[in-house]
Amino acid sequence: MAAVIIDGKAFAAKVRAQVGAAVTALKAQGITPGLAVVLVGEDPASQVYVRNKHRQTIEVGMNSFEHRLPAETPEADLLALIAQLNADTAVDGILVQLPLPAHLNAELVINAIDPTKDVDGFHIDNVGKLVTGQKSMVPCTPLGSLMLLRDSLGDLNGLEAVVIGRSNIVGKPMANLLLQQGCTVTIAHSRTRDLPAVVRRADIVVAAVGRPEMVKGEWLKPGATVIDVGINRIQPAGADKAKLVGDCDFDSCAAVAGAITPVPGGVGPMTIACLLANTLTATCRRHGLPEPVGLTA
Ligand code: NAP
Repeated sequence: MAAVIIDGKAFAAKVRAQVGAAVTALKAQGITPGLAVVLVGEDPASQVYVRNKHRQTIEVGMNSFEHRLPAETPEADLLALIAQLNADTAVDGILVQLPLPAHLNAELVINAIDPTKDVDGFHIDNVGKLVTGQKSMVPCTPLGSLMLLRDSLGDLNGLEAVVIGRSNIVGKPMANLLLQQGCTVTIAHSRTRDLPAVVRRADIVVAAVGRPEMVKGEWLKPGATVIDVGINRIQPAGADKAKLVGDCDFDSCAAVAGAITPVPGGVGPMTIACLLANTLTATCRRHGLPEPVGLTA
C-alpha cells in the first residue's frame, strides 16, 4: 500500500489565505490584528523562527511588533514588557519565543501573559481550559496536526489514537484535542513498555519524540494515519549536507500507512499558520465578533 502524502505546506497556505481574507474584512471595520513577538537572546534557530513569523504576519495583513532583547535581560524587565503588551490595545496576540536564557523562569514569564492574548496556548489558564473542554487558546503545533487529521479523516469519533511523547507543548495538548474529538487516546513516552505493540493498535499515530526515524513501518497497523511532528537534523553518511528527518522512518511507514505527513513539508508549516489563526481568533474574541470557521479546535 502506498500512503497518501498529507501536504502540510499546501494546507498551511490555505489557512494563511483564509486568515488573510478575514483580516481584510476586519480592516474594513477599522480593526487590524496585531501580533507581538518577544525574543530574548541570540539563539540561531529562534532567530529564524521569529523572522519567519514576522514575514508571514505581515503577509496576512496583520501588524507585527517585534521586541528583541539582549540575552542578559533581567526578569523584571521582561515582565514589565509583557505587562505593557497586555495593556496595549493594538496587540491581540503575544508570543515569547522559547527557549528563554537559563536565568529566566519560563513558567513565570508565560503565565504573566494575558491568557486571552496567549496565542501559543501555554498559559496555565489555557492549559486548564483545554483539559476541561472549555474554549481556550490551543497550542499551534497540535492545532495544526488536528487540522490535518480532520481534513484527512473527517470525523475522528471512535478512532484509536496513539500519541508518542508527553511534552507540554505537543504530546499532552495533542492527546487532549484527540480526546475531545472522540478518539480513544493512549499517550506513550520513554517508559512505555513494548512501544511497537502499542503503536500497532492505532488508527492515528502522532509522533512527537525528537528521535530521528524511530517509528518503523512494521510497527503500524496497515492503513493508519501518521502525523510526524518530529524535526531532527541528521548528517547522512557520505553526504556533505545535513538533512531534516522526522520521528518516523518515512519510507517504511509510507509503505504501510494509509496517509502520512512528510518532513519537511508536513506539520512544520502548519505551526506558524496556526499562530496566525490563533491571533485572528484572539482578535475576534476580544471584539466580540464571530470566530473564524475551521481555524479553532
Ligand atoms: P520533548 O519535550 O523532548 O519531548 C519528547 C517526548 O518524547 C517525551 O515525552 C519523551 O518521554 C518521549 N520519548 C523520548 N524518547 C522516547 C522513546 N525512545 N520512546 C518513546 N517516547 C520517547 O520534545 P517536544 O518539544 O515535544 O518535541 C518533539 C519533536 O517535535 C522534536 O523533534 C521537535 O523538534 C518537534 N517539534 C516540531 C514542531 C513543529 O513545528 N513541527 C513543534 C514543536 C516540536 P519522557 O517524557 O518519558 O522523557
